[in-house]
Amino acid sequence: MMMAMFSVTKEIYFCYGHRLLNYRGKCRHLHGHNGRVEIELASDTIDQRGMVIDFEKIKSVIKDWIDRNLDHRMILHEKDPFVPILKKKKEPFFLLSCNPTAENIAKLIYDYALKSRLRVVKVTLWETPSSFATYGA
Ligand SMILES: [Zn+2]
Repeated sequence: MMMAMFSVTKEIYFCYGHRLLNYRGKCRHLHGHNGRVEIELASDTIDQRGMVIDFEKIKSVIKDWIDRNLDHRMILHEKDPFVPILKKKKEPFFLLSCNPTAENIAKLIYDYALKSRLRVVKVTLWETPSSFATYGA
């Protein structure tokens, strides 16, 4: 039987642009999203304050990183032919070694949370109000 756990979820909003390579749909063109990220952390115990983690701590770790690295940037595949042009024009971008789908951006944020020693269990990226991708348990 699964043990009951405590979990907390923080929402973070950011804007990003992207496009998908080797894809025939309309997402092959440069376009943008008002993204919403949900980061779920879990623990079977809570601290002396009665918390899994302070929401402010999630914000200071994850939102700051998103603001500095992803917000108002183009998130592109490193092989995207637009990269040299953005570089030349000094436009901000963030490169992935894979297609910048909602799935891969969710995993990117999950991996950063894990690297920051947060007890992340799941990251969901809402790309539009009706479409989201999740990475995690
Ligand atoms: Zn898109």
